[in-house]
Amino acid sequence: MDNEQVRAEALRALRRSVADYIGFLAASGVRAVARPSPSGPAAPAGRAAPAPLPSIAADSGGLSTPPADEGLPLTLEEVSRELGDCTRCKLHAGRTHIVFGEGNPKAEILFIGEGPGEEEDKQARPFVGRAGKLLTDIIQKGMKLRREDVYIANIVKCRPPGNRDPEKDEIAACQPFLMKQIRAIGPKVIVTLGRPATSLLLGRSVQITRLRGQWQEFYGIPLMPTYHPAFVLRQYTPKNRGDVWEDMRKVLEKIGKPH
Ligand code: SF4
Repeated sequence: MDNEQVRAEALRALRRSVADYIGFLAASGVRAVARPSPSGPAAPAGRAAPAPLPSIAADSGGLSTPPADEGLPLTLEEVSRELGDCTRCKLHAGRTHIVFGEGNPKAEILFIGEGPGEEEDKQARPFVGRAGKLLTDIIQKGMKLRREDVYIANIVKCRPPGNRDPEKDEIAACQPFLMKQIRAIGPKVIVTLGRPATSLLLGRSVQITRLRGQWQEFYGIPLMPTYHPAFVLRQYTPKNRGDVWEDMRKVLEKIGKPH
């Protein structure tokens, strides 16, 4: 046998071994095998199989690379550990605290805003300033849910200076962690608060005044775009408040809790 034949025979033997091993796993009831992740700890066995990996694209077209994570979803604790004391973008320089997000780790409803403000930065909690109080009222008084029943997060986890919009590179650095949070929670419905969050998740620039109230989809998850509470506070009209309430009624219907 020459070298070529030896290599071919070795390859055939390897294929037979792999096929035998896959047959053994299948016979043992194994239906999926997690690929080891170079970027973080392996997920514990026994968790539900993941949805197809979503890739978030920015409305500006700046984010075209999906997060390289095809294994089982991490838990929120694991995502937080992986985020660590993050310095992946320039927003770290001015923050007091990272605002990771909070709420029920298996929430049916996930609210996603833009970024922490001054009060959020101080308290390390999302939506605790004036706009946060309005969001809490919407959840508790309007939807008759507890704030801790839902999950609240932002597209960036550190406060942009002067509450400016997050920039493309900052969103690009932070969005893999939002992605992992979405996968960890597995919500029935995502509510995007305002234009930046809606544009990011839909991967195109949107006009929130046109799109709000109309069901969208984020990789199989129904997505309801609505106004950011800060916008409603700025333009505190019965029409704007009524629009948000209308949107939330649709969300409650979608999760089987019609108001
Ligand atoms: S905004 Fe996100 S990526 Fe940037 S430093 Fe904060 S946690 Fe890291």
